[in-house]
Order: sequence, then structure tokens, then C-alpha cells
Amino acid sequence: MIFHADLRKPAKPRFHVKGSLKMYTNICKHCYKVFKSRRKTYTCSECRSKDEEDFDRIEAYLKEYPNSNALQISEALGITAYQVLTYLNEGRLNISRGHFERIKDDDI
Ligand SMILES: [Zn+2]
Repeated sequence: MIFHADLRKPAKPRFHVKGSLKMYTNICKHCYKVFKSRRKTYTCSECRSKDEEDFDRIEAYLKEYPNSNALQISEALGITAYQVLTYLNEGRLNISRGHFERIKDDDI
């Protein structure tokens, strides 16, 4: 079998339509409130400080136990595994070599 390089154009980014006033409908991962915002987010304004706090705790936990999975983090910190995975979707956590890592703010 011969393999060819894939010459198809990369898919257009789904977000970032220049000049568009598109609003995203978001569901807060903490209080499940539905709200609209200019960019895709998983945390409403009321839960933002709790979100930062949870993220700091995850980061601290990962420093101590670098090979934890979402379920272990969830059980240890009382944060739902869904929330842990949402940090991945948000691009704030990364899985590399099979474990979670914080992505440097510069890389986002
Ligand atoms: Zn909320």
C-alpha cells in the first residue's frame, strides 16, 4: 500500500470568525447555569473565583502526585472528574506522557 501525504486544506477553525458578533451559549460546570458570552467558557462570572481555587488545588495535587488520573484527582480533592476534564478542554491542563500537566499561560 502506498501512503500519500494528506493535501486537504486544514479545517477552518470553528471559533474566531473575524468581525462576527457570535455569542456562545455556555453551561457553567460549577452551578450549571446557562449563560452567553463572547468566547467559549465553562465557568460563569460568579463561579470564576471558585474555578481558580479548584485549579490551584489540582495544580498543587499534581506537583505532589504527578501521575494521577482525572478520577484520582476528583476523589482526592472532591472535584468532579468532569470538572477536571473540562480544564483539559479549556486548554489549561494537558496530558503528556500519560499524566496531567499545567500548560504555561504563555502557550495558550
Ligand atoms: Zn457558575
